[in-house]
Amino acid sequence: MKTRRVFLDNAATTTIDPSIVDMMINMMKINYGNPSSIHSFGRESKTLVEKSRKTIAKLLNTSPSNIFFTSGGTEADNMAIKCSINDYDIKHAITSKISHHAVLYPLQDLEEEKKIELSYVDIDKYGIVSLDHLEVLLKSNPRTFVSIMHANNEIGTIQPLKEIGNICKKYDAIFHSDTVQTMAHYPFNIKELDVHFMAASAHKFHGPKGVGFIYISEDVNISPMIRGGEQERKMRAGTENVLGIAALAKAMEISYKNLDQDVKYIKDIKLYMIEQLKVHFPNVGFYAKCTDINNSLYTVLSIYFPKKEDHEMLFFNLDIMGIACSGGSACASGGNKGSHVFSNIMPDKDVTGIRFSFSKYTTRDDIDYTINALKTLI
Ligand code: PLP
Repeated sequence: MKTRRVFLDNAATTTIDPSIVDMMINMMKINYGNPSSIHSFGRESKTLVEKSRKTIAKLLNTSPSNIFFTSGGTEADNMAIKCSINDYDIKHAITSKISHHAVLYPLQDLEEEKKIELSYVDIDKYGIVSLDHLEVLLKSNPRTFVSIMHANNEIGTIQPLKEIGNICKKYDAIFHSDTVQTMAHYPFNIKELDVHFMAASAHKFHGPKGVGFIYISEDVNISPMIRGGEQERKMRAGTENVLGIAALAKAMEISYKNLDQDVKYIKDIKLYMIEQLKVHFPNVGFYAKCTDINNSLYTVLSIYFPKKEDHEMLFFNLDIMGIACSGGSACASGGNKGSHVFSNIMPDKDVTGIRFSFSKYTTRDDIDYTINALKTLI
C-alpha cells in the first residue's frame, strides 16, 4: 500500500507553484542567454532580470535600485552583516538569541575574530525583543549594527519592526531584518520602515530554491561580498540565476495577488489543528504566541509534549507514516542537535517540541491524518 504523504514543513521549504514550474520549463528552453552578453540572447535574459526586479520593487513600494538578487536568505543575511560591519567599521552588534543561524554564526564569527562586541537583546517568554533593553544597549555603545528577524521560523514570534526601526534610527544604528519567513506572506511598505537591509528567499513562498534577494536602503553604501564580474550593478558578482529570478518575481506576484484569501485559508487550517490538538491531547503545550492567530506567524504551529523516552523516535515514526514536520528548523532537525530556539524559549522544561508549518496547499485531511498518527505515537 502506498503511504500517504503529508507535508507540514513549509517553514523549511515550500512546493513550487505548478504555474511557475510550467513557466520555468518554457524559459529553460528559450532564455539561456547570459544577461551580460550584448547580443539579443543576452539582452532577452537581461530584460527578464530587470523586469523581475521592477515587479518585486513595486510590490514592496521601493525602487528597483534597492533590490539585489542573491542565492537566497543565507547569502543576503551574511552580506548585510559582514559588509556593513566591515565598511562602516562597526565595533558593536546586537541580535537576539533566537535569530536564525544565518545571522548568529556570521555575527559570532566576527565576535570571535575580535572585530565586534556582540550583545544579545533581552527577549520575553514569547521571544519578543525588549525595546527598553534595545535602547539601553544602543545608548551605551558606539554606532551599532542591529539584526532582528521579523518572524521566527521555529516559534512564529513576530517582532515590532517599525518600532525597532524607529529606535535604531534614533541612535543612528544600522538595522537589518531577516524577513525570510514573512516576505510574500505579509504586506510590506518599505517606505514606512526604517530598515536598511531585508533578506528574502524564493523557496519559502512557492518559488525555487537557491534564489533570493537583499533589499538595501539608499541610506547605506556597502561594497560587495562576492567579487568578480559586474553583475547586479557591481554589488553581487556571478552570472545571474535568470530562471530563478524570474520565478522568484512570479512567485511573489502570485503570493501578493492572492494574499488575503491565502492568509485566511491558512489561518483556518492552523486554528483547526490547534483545536484538534487540544481535543485529543490534554497535555499538549504551544510555544510562544502560536495560538494567538493574529499575532504569530500564521504558517507556523510549534507544540510540545512532556518528554518520554520513546520520543527519540517520534520524527522517524512520523516520517515512516509519510508526515513531514520538524523539531525546530530544518537545519536543527537535520543536524540532530535540537533547536536553539526551543531551548532558549523554554530552558527549564523537559519537553519534546514539534514544528508543524502550513501552506495554501495544506488541507484539513492532512491535519486529521497527522492527529491520528500522533495519537499512536504520543
Ligand atoms: N532566515 C530564516 C528565518 C530562515 O527560515 C531561513 C531558511 O531556513 C534562512 C534565513 C535561510 O534562507 P535560505 O534557505 O534561502 O538560505
